[in-house]
Amino acid sequence: HTYFLVLRSKWKSNKASCGKMSSVPDGKKLVRSPSGLRMVPENGAFNSPFSLCEPQWVPDKECPSCMQCNKKFDFLTRKHHCRRCGRCFCDKCCSTKVALPRMCFVDPVRQCGECSRISQKEVEFYDKQLKVLMGGGTFIVTSGTSEKSETMICRLSNNHRYLFLDGESHFEVELTRISSMQVLTDGSAPEENDIQSYTSLLDSQYISEGGNSRASGMLLHYKRMGSLDPQQLRMEAGDDKKTASSWLAAMHKAAKLLYEARDQ
Ligand SMILES: [Zn+2]
Ligand SMILES: [Zn+2]
Repeated sequence: HTYFLVLRSKWKSNKASCGKMSSVPDGKKLVRSPSGLRMVPENGAFNSPFSLCEPQWVPDKECPSCMQCNKKFDFLTRKHHCRRCGRCFCDKCCSTKVALPRMCFVDPVRQCGECSRISQKEVEFYDKQLKVLMGGGTFIVTSGTSEKSETMICRLSNNHRYLFLDGESHFEVELTRISSMQVLTDGSAPEENDIQSYTSLLDSQYISEGGNSRASGMLLHYKRMGSLDPQQLRMEAGDDKKTASSWLAAMHKAAKLLYEARDQ
């Protein structure tokens, strides 16, 4: 069994980790930004840990021409800002409208070529992996260095902020308070090229999809609300290995989004 580090926290006091509770737990409101209508939580403390801030738009005077094809802007060639990166393009280079759930836009928004490719992949994450995570998987969970383990169902909360673990006992792990996430793989040792992809993953924090080995467990380090003591949680796939393995693979993808959101 091998562990690979896939997420390291920077422990900066980010927007999402403030502990204020609201009487309206998951209420949402519509807000209008220059880029479009957004549906955001009433209370900023309930922002999804995957969410990204809207970018600053590059000021008009700083872009005389398209930042992709260099075409000069005039009264025929109009400027358009990409909603994801805030850069300035001509209509041809920024015409695709793609859903951008991480910025909470209600409708698909205009994006440049590079950004629309990234957003398209994220739409897949929201459509598939996020549902897998909220659906949950069964794991044998060991807390800390305890010898005792317990069969628990682990699932992502509807607001994406917590992992809920339910068995005889119940506990919660707040995603923004996870400092490291390691995936345990099953079977044969990883091939050499797998090791390489995982090593580069360590540097860039990028989550690899490659590797021949199947995810069979996860080791988490996190801090409880109001506590600075690091906690450890070890989860190993329960009876339904297939569901547990897809849950772990989805968590792997989630870790990448989580890291980007923290790093912004
Ligand atoms: Zn252009
Ligand atoms: Zn862009």
